[in-house]
Amino acid sequence: MLILRGQYWRVLVACSVGLSIALLALVWGFTWQRLASEQAIKRHSASIQQQNVCAIIAENLEQVLGRGRLMSIVAEGWFNGLESEARNQLVAMQASDRLFLYVALYDKAMQRVYSSAPFADRPSLQEAVAEVVADGRSRGIHQVRLAPRLTEAEQAWQVPLLMPVSGADGQVRGAILLVLDLGYFLQLYQHVDLGHTGALQVLRADGEVVAEARQAGLLVQDGVFRDVSSFDRTGQVQGSVNGDFMATGRDTLSSFYHAPDAPFYVVTSRETQDILADYHATRRRFLITMTVLSAFIVLATWWVAYGIRRQGRYALALVSSNQQNQALITQLEEEKRRAFVLASHDHLTGLANRRMFNELLNTHLQQARRNRKHYALMYLDLDRFKAINDTLGHHVGDLLLQAVSQRLRAALRESDVIARLGGDEFAVLVTALDHAEDAIKVAEKLLEVLSAPYLNLDGHDLQVTPSMGVALYPRDGQDVEALCRAADLAMYQSKRAGRGRYTFFDAALTPVDTRHSNLERRLPKAIERGELVLHFQPKVRLSDFQIVGFEALVRWQHPEFGLIYPGDFIPYAERTGLIVELGDWVAEACCQQLAQWRDAGVRLVPVAFNVSAMQLHDEALAARIGQWLTAYDLPASLLQVEITETSLVESMDVASRVLNELEALGVQIALDDFGSGFSSLGYIRTLPIHCLKIDRGFINDIRNSHDDAIIVNSIITLAHNLKMKVVAEGVEMQDQLVYLKTAGCDEVQGYFFSRPVEAAAAEALLLRPSMMPS
Ligand code: C2E
Ligand code: CA
Ligand code: CA
Repeated sequence: MLILRGQYWRVLVACSVGLSIALLALVWGFTWQRLASEQAIKRHSASIQQQNVCAIIAENLEQVLGRGRLMSIVAEGWFNGLESEARNQLVAMQASDRLFLYVALYDKAMQRVYSSAPFADRPSLQEAVAEVVADGRSRGIHQVRLAPRLTEAEQAWQVPLLMPVSGADGQVRGAILLVLDLGYFLQLYQHVDLGHTGALQVLRADGEVVAEARQAGLLVQDGVFRDVSSFDRTGQVQGSVNGDFMATGRDTLSSFYHAPDAPFYVVTSRETQDILADYHATRRRFLITMTVLSAFIVLATWWVAYGIRRQGRYALALVSSNQQNQALITQLEEEKRRAFVLASHDHLTGLANRRMFNELLNTHLQQARRNRKHYALMYLDLDRFKAINDTLGHHVGDLLLQAVSQRLRAALRESDVIARLGGDEFAVLVTALDHAEDAIKVAEKLLEVLSAPYLNLDGHDLQVTPSMGVALYPRDGQDVEALCRAADLAMYQSKRAGRGRYTFFDAALTPVDTRHSNLERRLPKAIERGELVLHFQPKVRLSDFQIVGFEALVRWQHPEFGLIYPGDFIPYAERTGLIVELGDWVAEACCQQLAQWRDAGVRLVPVAFNVSAMQLHDEALAARIGQWLTAYDLPASLLQVEITETSLVESMDVASRVLNELEALGVQIALDDFGSGFSSLGYIRTLPIHCLKIDRGFINDIRNSHDDAIIVNSIITLAHNLKMKVVAEGVEMQDQLVYLKTAGCDEVQGYFFSRPVEAAAAEALLLRPSMMPS
């Protein structure tokens, strides 16, 4: 993978192509060389074979001529007075030799003195005899020469030969005529393997074909001549030449033998095509094999190169998609930060708003638990502010609020937190005091600076006093809620006591909050007594307005106070750890409800339930959920858990283990209230999250706030890039729905379609063909 990064894959492709070209060149070079040498060997062995045949035949022909010479010696007796003996011997010799068809003897006067059969001499023969008698001496007495035909009817293969006959003194006395049956002679060699196109020929010195034997038999074409000059040019007794020797228009290999004394050439010929027939078959086989091999090499190269290229592209695509995702995340974080600043500060004074103040308060209290310092929470509002607003106008009111915030800033330390909670209500958290009493000094100082006259506020000089309530950490409360309640009560005390003062919270003055403490006391029993119920809110798919899931939301059916919403008891359950038991009840109740719907034959859709931070840190959670799924015989795909960003902040590794186990079971995981916290987005990529639920806060204002709209769009794009589904929460209006559908959001949940309803009503919703109001 590493190697394929960048452009390395191009080098790899080039290497593999180069390698296979080299391989192909090698294979084909070898093939051609092999074929060429094969061909040369074939030709050479054919010519050796032909020459051997020629030599054997020429040798035999020489022997025949030898017998002819013997006859000429026997004939000498004729001229030495032993006529009858000579006759008898000639008759006997001819009778024992089938090759001599006819024998005749001539004296010096060219008179025929003996003849084995009667025939009339032609003048041409007479001349030839005279020539032999005259030249006999100079040519050597055993010189054999060809004679002209005896008759017209004579066949070409019946070859008349003349030889001189000498007397005892060595003088030429006459000549002997022998007619040789070369046809018969050649027939003896007909079974020599000459090949399909092979021919065996005896030629006269002038090239006339005397006899020719082929596989088909003996052939004689009268008066056919062959050009023997190429044989003579070799200057050898025997040899081989290539050319169109048979005048067939095809190349032949011809070998010849020409004995010095004989008047004949012995020639064997065979068409080159025929000689190389075997070779051609081998060659064809070779070429086919090599072509197949080459095709295979080319294909293999293509396959390898294609594979490398594809891997390379994948790697590049992966890198670029990672970069894109990273860019999107960065962009989204930036927008989130901007939106957060906007959403967390008060426009008029630039102070933190209530939401931000609660977050900061929380953070500081967490620190406070570790550093053993004292903290003071002060609530203050301006006395008779409403009257100023009403008489002098909002503009003056706003200027006054700005001046107050400036004085607060000037009077407090950097590390203290100042917020405008709304209207004329401010809050201050004085941090990390060494002694609780130091809070008194701060309260006195604030009272003093805020009570000083405000000059020239749009031409008006004003004097207002604040009413302040102070709650001390840890004395008056240990969490945000308790402290805020205490500071609020103390401020109320200040107002009741005549305004323009500060009051420290006094537990004795607190009216007993009967409902609150009652709920807290009763909650553990509520679970046992089965006072909890689930309501279900549908999730609607935007492509076809079908219900594709429910979110289960817990309610408490209180015997005294009626239906109580989770906001009133979940925070307490989370604080006390009761949430684990409560959460278990919810999870099992979801399974129970699904099983009931299944048994009633209702169409089943996944049910999501909320899981708090503490539950996510319970390592046995996945195992328990697995057990309920088995007990109610349900597929895990019917369950979804909703977790929040904030529940991931603490001990991330346990949470991620639990989530991985849930995913392994097959339970889907949704990230709830997405966008409301301000934790980093980095974890989204490492956790098994299948779905993002965009927080109600963003959806609320989507049609009016440009920032919110941009963020929602970014979230949808980002989530889709990370292969997550997007659900929008808190959709109450049609125009929100239209916007979300255009932005590509997958599902929505909200009062627009349905409030959370009881199981029976939820079942009825499922029966509707579509959730889109007509
Ligand atoms: P949540 O998970 O964000 O649940 C959605 C809340 O938004 C529900 O409030 C629901 O009634 C409300 N809601 C739904 N649509 C709309 C709408 O269009 N407009 C407005 N303004 N509100 C809408 P609910 O039922 O009061 O639940 C409040 C919170 O309590 C939930 O917020 C969730 O965090 C928590 N909660 C509820 N049930 C459970 C539970 O079983 N276990 C845990 N741990 N927490 C739960
Ligand atoms: Ca939820
Ligand atoms: Ca939510």
